Amino acid sequence: MEDENDNNKLKRKKKHTTQLYKDVLNTQWPIIYTPEYNISFMGLEKLHPFDSAKWGRVFEFLKGSTVFYHIYNYNVEAQMVRDDTIIKPLEATEEDLNFVHSKTYLNSLKWSWNVAGITEVPPVALLPNFVVQKKVLRPFRYQTGGTILAGKLALDRGWCINIGGGFHHCSAERGGGFCAYADITLSIKFLFEKVEGVSKVMIVDLDAHQGNGHERDFMNDNRVYIMDVYNRGIYPHDGFAKRAIKRKIELQHFTDDDVYLDLVRRHIEGALNEFKPDIIVYNAGTDILDGDPLGNLSITPQGIIERDQIVFQKARTRGIPIFMVTSGGYLKQTARIIADSILNLKTLGLISWDEAEFAPLPEEISLPRSQSDGGLFAKMKRACISRSSTQDFNQINNDISPTSPDKPQIENG
Ligand SMILES: [Zn+2]
Repeated sequence: MEDENDNNKLKRKKKHTTQLYKDVLNTQWPIIYTPEYNISFMGLEKLHPFDSAKWGRVFEFLKGSTVFYHIYNYNVEAQMVRDDTIIKPLEATEEDLNFVHSKTYLNSLKWSWNVAGITEVPPVALLPNFVVQKKVLRPFRYQTGGTILAGKLALDRGWCINIGGGFHHCSAERGGGFCAYADITLSIKFLFEKVEGVSKVMIVDLDAHQGNGHERDFMNDNRVYIMDVYNRGIYPHDGFAKRAIKRKIELQHFTDDDVYLDLVRRHIEGALNEFKPDIIVYNAGTDILDGDPLGNLSITPQGIIERDQIVFQKARTRGIPIFMVTSGGYLKQTARIIADSILNLKTLGLISWDEAEFAPLPEEISLPRSQSDGGLFAKMKRACISRSSTQDFNQINNDISPTSPDKPQIENG
């Protein structure tokens, strides 16, 4: 019986083709986001201590933030990303999810009370399931699609950031802790099955909580090396899953920057000395932030930015492709911190993509070269204002940007 099930599973996987590995333009950053990520339903999201529009706010901060460049002795500034220079993922289909999740598990999500348990928002149990599917599970399926695509893009481009995802409490057979789909497991299994040359993966899980979902899924799988740094005194206390961790660092409540960053630095170095992965999956939860009621640690915003920098530095200097997912982080200020961290990686040259950075605006592409000013001048028109006139620059950019009507009100920084 067991063998038959295994055979069926194997056949199903062999047959499976996915649209999630979509073609992307060279003028797009390997940064993945779509507005579909965000959860909003009749105010119920306020019942969970979770900024359910975090993903959108990270993107808006990145869009509104200014990065400085130095070209031909001019100081040039430009937005890091635009609507047309990020990658919008597709929604993971039932068939995609079935690559890891059993039909039984996926069917269990058709009962609202099960989803209420997974999301820890009890009133969700009272909603008709079609509402739960549309307002809660669909955003998660888009984020899962994003994580799956991120794995492939990181191999193509060296790095990738999914502004969502990181549902590390969900395993193939069980959801929990706000995680309904095992996006990390899915992304890795897609790579193993569909991309040539990937046989060793390292998961670096630095969310405040233990990543018991992927740990259960990769128990006894020597192709996957798991390093997990988490607060031992909080959810999920999953002793069985801990057996899958190759490098386990358990923190006490209120661990501070000095202790934490030293541990991260030493252990990621140690991990990479004993295992040479083809790719690193970085689960970059920000619930380690001081004051987070669920993480119970005492890391400053600067500490989080430095942590991400350490991880990217270690991966990039060794030439190992890396992709990051944002995972937990439940306070309003975490969106700003995630955006600042990405900008910091950019400023340090730990992430870059020239073709996206200097991509012409869509309306410039449609104009003949003589009218669009072409080449460097177009870039300058778009972005070249001296460092002292940020406001003028923003005004010009608002005037010429196709996305200006819905520009958020945010401060640069
Ligand atoms: Zn967490």
